Amino acid sequence: MAASLRMLRQVCGSLSRSHAAVRRLCSRAAAEAHHDVIRPVFPPLQSFSEEESMMRDAVKKFAQERIAPFVSKMDEDSVMDADVISALFEQGLMGIEIGAEYGGTGSSFFSSILVIEELAKVDPSVSVLCDIQNTLINTLLMNLGTEEQKQLYLPRLASDTVGSFCLSESESGSDAFSLKTKAEKHKDYYIINGSKMWISNAEHAGVFLVMANAEPAAVSMCGVISDTELGFVHTMNDNYTDNCNSNYIGVYINMLGLAQGCFDHTVPYTRQRMQFGKRIFDFQGMQHQIAHVATQLEAARLLTYNAARLKEAGRSFIKEACMAKYFSAEVATLTTSKCIEWMGGVGFTKDYPIEKYYRDCKIGTIYEGTTNIQLSTMAKMIDQEYDG
Ligand SMILES: Cc1cc2nc3c(=O)[nH]c(=O)nc-3n(C[C@H](O)[C@H](O)[C@H](O)COP(=O)(O)OP(=O)(O)OC[C@H]3O[C@@H](n4cnc5c(N)ncnc54)[C@H](O)[C@@H]3O)c2cc1C
Repeated sequence: MAASLRMLRQVCGSLSRSHAAVRRLCSRAAAEAHHDVIRPVFPPLQSFSEEESMMRDAVKKFAQERIAPFVSKMDEDSVMDADVISALFEQGLMGIEIGAEYGGTGSSFFSSILVIEELAKVDPSVSVLCDIQNTLINTLLMNLGTEEQKQLYLPRLASDTVGSFCLSESESGSDAFSLKTKAEKHKDYYIINGSKMWISNAEHAGVFLVMANAEPAAVSMCGVISDTELGFVHTMNDNYTDNCNSNYIGVYINMLGLAQGCFDHTVPYTRQRMQFGKRIFDFQGMQHQIAHVATQLEAARLLTYNAARLKEAGRSFIKEACMAKYFSAEVATLTTSKCIEWMGGVGFTKDYPIEKYYRDCKIGTIYEGTTNIQLSTMAKMIDQEYDG
């Protein structure tokens, strides 16, 4: 303590006398050091708990071994390999936050974000399946379900049943509350009438969370298990937005993982490919672009992790989640487009995975609320912040 106090005084002494503000700061710091004031140390956003690090490393290895070999075949056939889905269940990646009492992994929201990011680096189509299951279906049931509903649905979702989130209709996209599907009450049961479109995972799903109008409530969530007559209707006017917004985080982490995966495939190529007797990485024109994209990726990651940590801390996160979704989709578009250019002609071919990342990134500006809708939500919140 005495030595550090001495050092602090020496540093302060060497500062010019004219820097009064700095000197005042230094003397306050010296006084605090003298009285042994303990300042909290805040961890950087990219620091993880031991459990989070282990989960991330395990999924990275899993994705390389159990998913990467199937990516191009699944893309060519436009089919999700059933073994890939089974492997996700076996690894406990489809019920990450579901408690052990319901057969889930019992891990944290941030762990599921890291899992989705690692999967997206290898195949964004697989990561989105895992994302919808964890951050949308499981979250909605865990937060809004009764104990009976949790006992019915969660063990299946954690072990062998894929879930689908059914909101969009042909005439109801961005204007989600204009949906026409109805849940009509008949004695002690409901009949759901309507049609949905664009529903991810539908061909593999056994549980469908169907959004419908059940008068007098504006929006209700109906749980349907395809192979039974069991189901439920949960009215969710007030809590619909909050609960569904956690999925924005899942969506943008998909975009971030996708962009990072694309970048990780491309940079090694630029370090090997020789033109004009040099590695193409060594041209300043290339280096500046690569450094620029790396910075954008870092910024997207910080926005993403911050929104996820805010949610986990139970703090308001909607504006930050919208910002992160909007920005990550933009960064994914920039990164994948640049990566194709940096690879030259081969970037355009199916011999490398770059063109698939480029195709996959476009959805980031559309689903789970288009970029315009994210911007409108942000603007609404900014407007409210400045209310007198
Ligand atoms: C691959 C894929 C997977 C999907 N998965 C699912 C799923 O699992 N479940 C599900 O329910 N849905 C899913 N969707 C649907 C998706 O969420 C919708 O496509 C999305 O919400 C946009 O709706 P829309 O296509 O009707 O576009 P529109 O709402 O018709 O929008 C068209 C354009 O108009 C703009 N626009 C609309 N309203 C406004 C406004 N008020 N202000 C400014 N601009 C506006 C939009 O930003 C967009 O650019 C999926 C879609 C795709 C393509």
